[in-house]
Amino acid sequence: MSQPAESTHQFRAEVRKVLHILTNSLYTNREIFLRELVSNASDALDKLRFRTNRGESPREPGLPLEIRISVDKDAKLLCIGDTGLGMTADELADNLGTIAKSGSEEFLAGLAAESSASTDGDANDPDSGKPDAANIIGRFGVGFYSVFMVADKVEVISRPAFGEDTTAHVWTSDGLGTFSVGEAGADAPVRGTLIRAHLKDDAVEFLEQYRLESVIRKHSAFVPFPVFVGEERVNTQPALWREPKSSVSKEQYAEFYKALCHDHKDPLDVQHISVDAPVQFNALLYIPDSAQDFFGADRDFWGLDLYARRVLIQHRNKELIPEYLAFLRGVVDTEDLPLNISRETLQENVVLRKIQQVIVKQSLGHLEKLAANDAEKYAAFWKLHGKVFKLGYHDFANRERVCGLLRFNTSALADADALSSLTEYMERAPEGQKTFWYVAAPNREAARLSPHMERFRQKGIEVLYLLEPVDEFVMEGLGKYKDWDFKAVENAADDALDAFADKSEDKEPVQPLSEADNQSFDGLLERMKEILGDKVKEVRVSHRLADSPAVLVSPDGGMTSSMEKFLRVMQKDDSLPVKTLEVNRDHPLLRNMLRMFKADREDKALADMTQSLFDASLLLDGYLNDPQALASRVNSLLAEAAAWYAEVRKL
Ligand code: ADP
Ligand code: MG
Repeated sequence: MSQPAESTHQFRAEVRKVLHILTNSLYTNREIFLRELVSNASDALDKLRFRTNRGESPREPGLPLEIRISVDKDAKLLCIGDTGLGMTADELADNLGTIAKSGSEEFLAGLAAESSASTDGDANDPDSGKPDAANIIGRFGVGFYSVFMVADKVEVISRPAFGEDTTAHVWTSDGLGTFSVGEAGADAPVRGTLIRAHLKDDAVEFLEQYRLESVIRKHSAFVPFPVFVGEERVNTQPALWREPKSSVSKEQYAEFYKALCHDHKDPLDVQHISVDAPVQFNALLYIPDSAQDFFGADRDFWGLDLYARRVLIQHRNKELIPEYLAFLRGVVDTEDLPLNISRETLQENVVLRKIQQVIVKQSLGHLEKLAANDAEKYAAFWKLHGKVFKLGYHDFANRERVCGLLRFNTSALADADALSSLTEYMERAPEGQKTFWYVAAPNREAARLSPHMERFRQKGIEVLYLLEPVDEFVMEGLGKYKDWDFKAVENAADDALDAFADKSEDKEPVQPLSEADNQSFDGLLERMKEILGDKVKEVRVSHRLADSPAVLVSPDGGMTSSMEKFLRVMQKDDSLPVKTLEVNRDHPLLRNMLRMFKADREDKALADMTQSLFDASLLLDGYLNDPQALASRVNSLLAEAAAWYAEVRKL
């Protein structure tokens, strides 16, 4: 059987349509055209500088290397001029007349071929001019056409900087499918290129000085040649991230930060990163000296500014850092991204993902160093940004390192400002302890007063204070650190601390109850349950209390009370939780209630006291649903107590 004959065809294109798609769909944001033209001008200047550095002599060598933007409002004309490389008539036709043809890409390819032929592979030779070449922005040969988003006629007048032919030529097009090239008139630049864009009626905003300045500042602030709008130089900051670290002073870093982030304060710290593999990028990452409310008003107000070869691609890009590093501010500049990448493609971009991985590793390393070498500064960092950083418990791959950087206030520290790492906690713990104990509370005082803490105090076991709502989620998320568990004190089993000796305290030992009283006590517990009814699940003897008479606990293995409260708020549930009331058999109050119970099971005062004891426990647990009833019970108890007191003392 014979195969059907096969033939190969070239795609044909409707140039008009391709141009239309190109100019109208490539960019979502019209002002980008200015970025493209300024980038092209910058490339042309770079190429001129490059060839000059290699010994060639350009026309008009005294001309400054710069970009000038001017307008003629009456003629609705926007002009962008550069004193760069320029183009011959052929180059005009080739570079601007062939869609997706990039003279810049050719220039770079030429360089690469040359350097591999001449330098025996030493591509990093600093004198080879490579650093200059790395500045060249263009690569795709489509950016120029974006000018037709705003102009219905464009003239490109150009005079080449090198070569015999000194004639200037003009390329003219309406962007609809044809162009012409002819000799330029007397208004041609002496060297380089002048672009005259005749603006459409709906684009006259680009005739306004302030509009031009703000677009340039936004997208092209770090172009390495002076950019003038009228007489005003618009780009004054150097692209500091591209400078070698050793040449940048602390003041320069700070000044750059203030301009970039509109902050009046110096940054707390800065990281300057230069990486070549697995992905090329430079970054300046600052830790601000003030906190932002990422859980509230500033929710979306984070991310790093992403640049490709000094040109802004996206402000506040959120792919470059994970949320828990949201406190970082600064810029990332990579040569591995095309300028005209769309936001949609940025979102799943491999280059950005790789950059993020490097930034995370380096930032964790940076923080580790800070913690080890400058505890004071690290503490300042923690107070400002710890709340966000804690979210790093999500980062499974780096969890161990995130854990090492966590800080807590604890029961063993002298004051509310002191901080401890988990490692320091472990070092202080007695032999045999394998659990990080924690208590969640709204503040240090409340944490200290939690009845659940009493047993721990008695045994001298340190407890981490979780004073922010997110903390408990962090603890649950962490699982383990260095083989130690995390556990809430209120979930401690009855025998959890049996292995640890009591810290000697000069307190009178309490007489244990007699066998008979023990049985009566069981009766008292039953009676108390009767009195409280459905408000409690059970009333039982506590093994966790030392000084308090009673405490409410979640049924065994339940979640912590603060977590439960959080969920209730989420579910808008304002009923009271039904918990177990644990009482302290050795507390004087309970001992006296036992006496009352033995004398008269139905004693009214006993019932009132049981209610009040429950109220107080509920309060300590953070619930106060019926303050009126509570106050009136307290008041009537006080009235009776005062009467008894007066009676007994015979006042
Ligand atoms: P790219 O910049 O990605 O190469 P463009 O469409 O922006 O693509 O430009 C196409 C080509 O036109 C450039 O590569 C360059 O060779 C040439 N060009 C554009 N603007 C200028 C200019 N101002 N001076 C010299 N050459 C230019
Ligand atoms: Mg370009």
